[in-house]
Amino acid sequence: KPILLLMNETLRLDDHMALVSACESGAPVIPLFILDDAGAGDWKLGGARRWWLRESLKRLEKSLQAKGSRLILRSGNTAEMVSGLLGDVSAVYMTRSYSPIGRRVQEEIHQQCTVHDVDCRRFAGNLLLEPEDVRTKTGGIYEVFSPFWRRALELIDGSPPLGAPDRIPAPDAWPESDDLDDLKLDPKPAHWAEPIAATWVPGEDAAHDMLAKFLAEAARDYKAKRDVPGVEATSRLSPYLANGEISPRRIWAETQLHVMTNEQDRTGGDWFLRELGWREFSTHLLFNNPTLPVRPLKAQFEDFPWREGMDDKVEAWQQGRTGFPIVDAGMRQLWQTGWMHNRVRMIVASFLVKDMLWHWRTGEDWFWDTLVDADLANNAASWQWVAGCGADAAPYFRIFNPITQGEKFDPEGDYIRTYVPELSDLPNDYIHKPFEAPAGVLKMAGISLGETYPKPILDRKACRERALAALASIKKAA
Ligand code: FAD
Repeated sequence: KPILLLMNETLRLDDHMALVSACESGAPVIPLFILDDAGAGDWKLGGARRWWLRESLKRLEKSLQAKGSRLILRSGNTAEMVSGLLGDVSAVYMTRSYSPIGRRVQEEIHQQCTVHDVDCRRFAGNLLLEPEDVRTKTGGIYEVFSPFWRRALELIDGSPPLGAPDRIPAPDAWPESDDLDDLKLDPKPAHWAEPIAATWVPGEDAAHDMLAKFLAEAARDYKAKRDVPGVEATSRLSPYLANGEISPRRIWAETQLHVMTNEQDRTGGDWFLRELGWREFSTHLLFNNPTLPVRPLKAQFEDFPWREGMDDKVEAWQQGRTGFPIVDAGMRQLWQTGWMHNRVRMIVASFLVKDMLWHWRTGEDWFWDTLVDADLANNAASWQWVAGCGADAAPYFRIFNPITQGEKFDPEGDYIRTYVPELSDLPNDYIHKPFEAPAGVLKMAGISLGETYPKPILDRKACRERALAALASIKKAA
């Protein structure tokens, strides 16, 4: 009887332990992907990830066909779908999920398998280290990144990634499959995806190309340039990691091979791998705190007087019309490409939760819907980090100044000019603060504040005081 291989969260053939083990067993393999929107609840895939998933599944199907196999697609309740197939298979293999919903579903599958006397195996694959393995000396959970990463570096054994199997044995008969269109992955409105499609090529082949390009061209300068949003200095591997199209172990191994062997490039490589470490840390946090996406890790923030609901200021933030150029450039980059530079993510997030005093969950939800790399752990941990209520978080009173941040990291205004073209002709001195430019300068640049580009939606000085008063209110309460 064949082995059922659940490919959810692991849309690749390379370094796919569950797939390799299934092939090595000699049994035929049935690769299966199930879209379970209802089961995902509030964390149903957002628009940008849906577009990505559709493209990725198309490519995965082709790669599987080239190995003599197929991809069976289904939509509906994951555990029920798998359960319905158990009569015809000898085993179910899958890659471990670390999200609360993924873990619950995998546990349900495991129980169904036990009832039907079917072997059920969960393999590692989408982290460098399993959450149970990175513990403090007393067996506790790390809440601060640096010691976590120091310990992780001691534990990572550098075992080589597994290649893709040459052939994937096919069963005599295939179960029925839905069509890709049945999965209803097209984003709404459909035209929203056009610029995103012009920016990205999903799929595992593209992931390997991106990695090779980054390692050859940018990794050595990563430490120096990773904070500069106007240059392509980071790997842009996040959507591929979020979709399981490349394994962190493959990234680790290729970085060792192509970067770490060269003394001059090592610093860049170290910093890059450290960022992969933040991904591990976020996932470990989620694994150990399943409410991370909805509740603050620091309990006193439960009573923080966040503002909630929608209003026109939140809409201005979402649409990149706040009147603060670096914030607007970031939010427009997100809308147009499904991705935003990390430094700018921190700036726009700080603007929402501190200047605007809006609940971090409002930002988390918007990012969830619009990021091609939306990842439950990274998104929640990062929003909590910026909001000051997460593990190892930036203190709440440290409020990013969008003007000085812009001047420091985008001194020539290259990033602003790309995403806020109506400010293109402003001289560098005013590109981050058009509201301070003399009337003559604005006129020369063809800008009419309030008409061609918004006036600032808030007074930062007053907002800073309001934010600090809000912080003081929970301190008093605590
Ligand atoms: P690189 O700099 O090349 O880093 C390599 C990889 O390391 C990334 O692909 C990513 O997997 C991981 N990584 C890098 N920075 C971080 C970080 N700060 N935290 C965790 N992992 C990191 N990242 C997501 O993958 N999904 C999200 O939903 C997400 N939401 C975020 C929300 C906010 C408010 C902030 C401030 C950050 C968020 N990040 C998120 C983290 C980070 O911004 C992105 O991972 C990074 O910008 C991706 O670009 P890259 O692949 O070029 O990264």
